[in-house]
Amino acid sequence: MPIQVLSDQLASQIAAGEVVERPSSVVKELIENAIDAGAKTINVDIRNGGRNLIQVADDGDGIPADELEVAFMRHATSKLRTAEDLNTIYTLGFRGEALAAIAAVSQLTAVTRAKGETAGTRLVLEGGHKSGRETVGAPQGTVIAVENLFYNLPARLKFLKSVTTERRLIDEYVTRYALAYPEIRFRLTHDNRLTFQSNGSGQLMDVLVSVYGPDTARDLLEIREEEEETAGEPEEKQSPTKAINVSGYAGPPRHNWANRNHITLFVNGRWIKDNRLTYAVIQAYHTLLPTGRYPLAVVFLEMPAEQVDVNVHPTKAEVRFRQSNAAFSAVQRAVRQTIIADSPVRQGGHFASFQPSGWAGTTARHDSDSWDDSGWESQSAFDLDWSSGSEGDSPITGSSPAAAGTNETMAGGGRIPIMRVVGQVGAAYIITEGPDGLYLIDQHAAHERILYEQFMAAWQENGRNEGIASQGLVTGAVVQLTPPQAALLDEHLALLSQIGFQVEPFGPNTYMVRSLPAVVARLDPARALMDVIEDLERGDEPLQSKIEARIILRVCKSAAVKAGQTLSRQEMEAMIHQLENCHNPHTCPHGRPTLIHLSVAQLAREFGRT
Ligand code: ADP
Ligand code: MG
Repeated sequence: MPIQVLSDQLASQIAAGEVVERPSSVVKELIENAIDAGAKTINVDIRNGGRNLIQVADDGDGIPADELEVAFMRHATSKLRTAEDLNTIYTLGFRGEALAAIAAVSQLTAVTRAKGETAGTRLVLEGGHKSGRETVGAPQGTVIAVENLFYNLPARLKFLKSVTTERRLIDEYVTRYALAYPEIRFRLTHDNRLTFQSNGSGQLMDVLVSVYGPDTARDLLEIREEEEETAGEPEEKQSPTKAINVSGYAGPPRHNWANRNHITLFVNGRWIKDNRLTYAVIQAYHTLLPTGRYPLAVVFLEMPAEQVDVNVHPTKAEVRFRQSNAAFSAVQRAVRQTIIADSPVRQGGHFASFQPSGWAGTTARHDSDSWDDSGWESQSAFDLDWSSGSEGDSPITGSSPAAAGTNETMAGGGRIPIMRVVGQVGAAYIITEGPDGLYLIDQHAAHERILYEQFMAAWQENGRNEGIASQGLVTGAVVQLTPPQAALLDEHLALLSQIGFQVEPFGPNTYMVRSLPAVVARLDPARALMDVIEDLERGDEPLQSKIEARIILRVCKSAAVKAGQTLSRQEMEAMIHQLENCHNPHTCPHGRPTLIHLSVAQLAREFGRT
């Protein structure tokens, strides 16, 4: 092919790829524009994880009618004039790329009315081309509605992850900006359901409560820097003291997670991705956290704009610090001081924190077919086992099954008596005789309960630190997944391995199950993995602590004997014996009863003996 200059259309699409990677990037850019426009309220409405609609409405300055078309041109910005300006950027945007990029790969409608203008303007663009413009009545501010993102880029569309994942990424961006701008009221809906809001009070703590729930937020420690000279790294000797100000909140070590997602960093009001600073936070917790566990921290750095280069990447999420060592030590020192000042660290059994509310705290729930509404969570066993007894600790580690046992009465009457197996009915129920009559036991529910308590005990002992003991498979089991399933699995590989499930990539969208949690070694490995994935697909719970709990529940369910399975007398006796040893023998982990008791008196009544 001869060398040719690309058509404008194609060049725009290619450029758009850098800025608009996925729905959440659109959300990010539009929110940044709203913030730059001085908005006090920002409403974000999403449909179908952003594939169908992303709408961001603000009450900011608006775009003057005669500049509206220009705003959608490439490299068009009101925030930058000269190359020198690049050194001192105080706005979130400055590259003049976002609107053009978003418009190039979607069907976009903008309605805006600028301060001082009497009417608003509606502009409609299809793949970046103007297809309509009219004068309309509108309040001051801007509404950008992005429909059918990537409709003209099928290749991109294919790479989007599950709706759940996209939704989570969007949630993350909205909460980040809500944290960085507590004075702005944010409101986020997914498919017309409110999932997050902040009140715009200006109090960071209010936003923390909205994001993490009141229980976790209450425990967070405010980062206060002691007045101190900047540690003198040679190259930074001359740097003025307090060139970098660090503020925010750090979680006490007992609140910890399996990944770094809960470390959030901002520089001059901009959320950034920075491995080194993330590591500085982790370092601050050195020896205070079990290995493989990460803290919660929301850290704000303020420094003169010329100290940080934000023009590194089109997404503006990566930055370069002029004095990166100073930034590192400032963060590490400030966080360390904060957590050390708090108290001697409580050790022993009380590691991670359970977040009962998180999103749910101030928000509506998602899909009706999701975890939240499936009835699992709301049922008694779930609550009883974990949250009710133990000052808001993790379902996994916080309360041992022993602690859960203190709630026995609520679960329906304490332990079960020693029983004698009589037989099995319908290959589903075990009949036993106890001191007061007859018991019918649901073999699946009972086994689920047994496995679950064993799992929890193993987790309690070792899980947090070294992961749960696993049992290798002689020949691994290969599982073929769809691309979204593979993406979902990739996200959770580390977590699965932590609970004893070793799964390795084994070709495109293909995985090999290498080992299983020892407690449930009888699982059909491939089936079990599919069960877990299908379960993850159904949910949209962003909290890691709940995902752990959920996977464990799912695994126990898969591993439990099914109804329809004939059991030998030995097997039944073993099961009953183990059930007798459970702390909450009366219900399965999802809250269904494991047994029905027919007392001697009841039998007598039924037979008309009394
Ligand atoms: P940048 O933010 O880098 O300047 P964008 O493409 O995101 O580039 O936006 C182009 C211009 O459109 C901005 O500089 C700003 O003047 C205007 N603009 C975009 N969104 C808004 C908004 N929500 N309110 C007011 N002005 C806006
Ligand atoms: Mg912008």
